[in-house]
Amino acid sequence: MSRREHSESWRRELLQLAGWLGAGLLIGLISGAVTLCLLLALGGYTAIHLRRLDALGGWLARGARLDRTPELGGGWDALVQQIERLRTSADQRKQRLLVLRRSQHEFTDAIPDATLILRDNDEIEWANSAAERLLGIRNPQDLGQRIGNLLRDPSLREYLRRGEFARPFELISPRPEGFELDLRVVEFGDGQRLLTARDVTASHRLQTVRRDFVANVSHELRTPLTVIAGYLEVLEGEDLSPELARGVDSMSRQTTRMTRIVEDLLALSRLEMEQSDPEDDEEIAVAGLARKLAEDAARLSGERGHRIEVQTDDALLLRANPLELGSALSNLVNNAVSHTPNGTAIRVSWETCPGGACFTVRDSGPGIDAEHLPRLTERFYRVDPGRSRASGGTGLGLSIVKHAVMRNGGQLEIDSRPGEGSRFMCRFPAERLLRRNRVAAADDNGAGTRR
Ligand code: ADP
Repeated sequence: MSRREHSESWRRELLQLAGWLGAGLLIGLISGAVTLCLLLALGGYTAIHLRRLDALGGWLARGARLDRTPELGGGWDALVQQIERLRTSADQRKQRLLVLRRSQHEFTDAIPDATLILRDNDEIEWANSAAERLLGIRNPQDLGQRIGNLLRDPSLREYLRRGEFARPFELISPRPEGFELDLRVVEFGDGQRLLTARDVTASHRLQTVRRDFVANVSHELRTPLTVIAGYLEVLEGEDLSPELARGVDSMSRQTTRMTRIVEDLLALSRLEMEQSDPEDDEEIAVAGLARKLAEDAARLSGERGHRIEVQTDDALLLRANPLELGSALSNLVNNAVSHTPNGTAIRVSWETCPGGACFTVRDSGPGIDAEHLPRLTERFYRVDPGRSRASGGTGLGLSIVKHAVMRNGGQLEIDSRPGEGSRFMCRFPAERLLRRNRVAAADDNGAGTRR
């Protein structure tokens, strides 16, 4: 109904009222009881409207069904039409919402990852059907329960409590199938959390098969290489023609290279496959180790004349696996010699830094382009493959460093700019550090102390 129609119907209503009052007045004047007749006219008019109001109320109370619209007459029909219109648009909106909700359900159930919304205290507010398959969370019985009480994994509880979700959490599902899951949490809204769990069982299995294969191949190659190297050593002692001597020399160098690759592959496999055992950890005097590594690096540099400086906090000890730490740090110091020009400066340091303590190797070599930095710790990734091979590199050094440092609670950070040298830094957390008195530190020769 338009605004004009609306005011028209109420104008008619006013005319009707005027008619009732006019009739009352006329009868009053004729009968001589004007007030009484006017009151009777008003009462009659009001009674009609009360009856219509009652009919309207009854219709609304029965749900304002569109197929049972009352016919009330006068301005009331205009009101009924307005209500009908509002009712129709509310019905349409409800229908649209139902369709939206149904498609939302279908879409969330089609997501293969378990998806949950957690509110305060990590109570489950909503879960899709994959949450039941992967995590055993029943919908709707488990809604309102705390996720930590259902999954019963203390480290998951700690992960959720700490609230640092930059890295995913690895969880073995409590279901009998034992899915391996990657859990991710995103915070949103007013303290709510979206938790997703992806089944990574197949890709983990594939990685294990790949790792096993590399470890087995490396292991199998070890014995034949030892035999070949042994015979080449014997041949080198013989009186050979210059041509044959050159061949034997080249074979020896290649065998040494291959042996180094096999050893590095085996070291990497061990770092990736074997669980680190805290029993193997020692309190290591990294300052002494740094001095020893610098001496080795100076020997490696030899006539190339690198200037190696060491700066250490001698009282700062690190709790770590000595073999893994030694292998990681020596790789960094040796890389600085191998990948920088003769006579350049190398600075090795072990000091406190934000978050704990840092073992840092800075060089003043050619530096590395930014595009290579994220890939340097990949196996066999080299900026210049020819030069790396010529310098005796296997392309596995930085992968070993990254894994060894991570297994000991630290992180490898690489910073470099072409023309400005490079900085390789292993940052270890404060909980791995210890301080000891200065006298003991002065006597230190780099050896570890068994815990
Ligand atoms: P490699 O056996 O070749 O040294 P790494 O894994 O140790 O293998 O290093 C990967 C690559 O990173 C190297 O081939 C080299 O290109 C680059 N690199 C490593 N250390 C340095 C450094 N100090 N300065 C410049 N480039 C470096």
